[in-house]
Amino acid sequence: MYKKDFPYFSNSNSVYLDNGATTQKPQAVIGATVDYYSKYCSNTHRSSFGDANKSTTEFENTREVLRRFINANKKEEIIFTKGVTESINFIASSFARRFKTIIISSLEHHANIVPWHMQNRTLGNGLEVVNCNENLDFDFTHFEELLKSNPNSFVSIAHVTNAFGKVHDIKRIISLAHSYNCPILIDGAQSLSSFKIDVQELDCDFFAISGHKTFGPTGVGAIYIKEKFHDLVEPYQTGGAVINIVDLEKGSTFLPSPYKFEAGTQNIAGVIAFSKALEYVENIGYETIQKRKKELLEYLDSELRKLPDIIFYNDLKDCSGTRSFNFKGIMHDDISILLDKLKVAVRVGHHCAQPIMKKLGVKGTIRVSLAFYNDFEDIDKLMVALKKALSMLK
Ligand code: PLP
Repeated sequence: MYKKDFPYFSNSNSVYLDNGATTQKPQAVIGATVDYYSKYCSNTHRSSFGDANKSTTEFENTREVLRRFINANKKEEIIFTKGVTESINFIASSFARRFKTIIISSLEHHANIVPWHMQNRTLGNGLEVVNCNENLDFDFTHFEELLKSNPNSFVSIAHVTNAFGKVHDIKRIISLAHSYNCPILIDGAQSLSSFKIDVQELDCDFFAISGHKTFGPTGVGAIYIKEKFHDLVEPYQTGGAVINIVDLEKGSTFLPSPYKFEAGTQNIAGVIAFSKALEYVENIGYETIQKRKKELLEYLDSELRKLPDIIFYNDLKDCSGTRSFNFKGIMHDDISILLDKLKVAVRVGHHCAQPIMKKLGVKGTIRVSLAFYNDFEDIDKLMVALKKALSMLK
């Protein structure tokens, strides 16, 4: 029903079930990209001729659309980046380095682990990891112990984890972190496509956004930075666009946020087109998206459970749109090769989450990740392909 809005589905004969890796783009996003390059391609915030003014206006319009979308107090709290990876690296190197300890969860994506390893290497900061139970639930008791025993900590946690689709109770996590005076970043890579985010209601300090996982272009994302941190966060990269005065004797002074954080020419087309993705989501509505994903996930789960020797690692509780599994005695890589031949697109492997795979004692899983535009027929086709693959491998 929604597939007609996404040109990919008219052009591809694949069953696309890899939405955790990236989402498809509606025509409005593709159209806005083509419009920018074919009708008013020019740089932003520099020249003052007509097309350049339009570029700046459209670019800044996305900032306002995103501000409204996540209910930030001011549009100066929205800084564009390449995606969540850059957003986390930015906050790690420009702000979080001052903290003695970083606290993450055991289900994080490498984008929320490796930047902290790099700090550990260069600055010697500690890294503490909150345990999860056998159903992959966040261990609040352990989190509080870590906060108590590491008073100078920065917390960085995913809202929705990518490998298993586990949804963390971020409101409770943020409130607990704040009760120990620890600032917190939420990795929203997997969440903005499915959950209404209200950064003021959450009282979040930093919220990282991925455009391409929210039906927008690749190479675009953002970081929400609460205003009270603006003077404490250093520019990540410097050069053109970020400065107020550059004086060879006196040095450089910077513009206020967001400009001091957006050095060089941005992904202008991508940022402009991202607003169309957000408007598309707004038009459909999160209630519809969540209802649809819940129905699809329950159907997927009930169909998968009919397969012999399937191994799950968590139940459906607090799970958003993703099912990760293995089959006893079968290498997930072999399933991947056969599913590809049968034109079913899923992701197989460690999903950039090696630590949780190690904890579970597996090298990887088969991950089916759904979006609201998927339908029951996609799941039926997946099941036919899985049964065929299993019959060949048994
Ligand atoms: N964090 C999580 C939970 C993810 O799933 C991903 C991508 O898979 C990332 C971070 C990286 O996001 P991006 O591709 O926007 O850099």
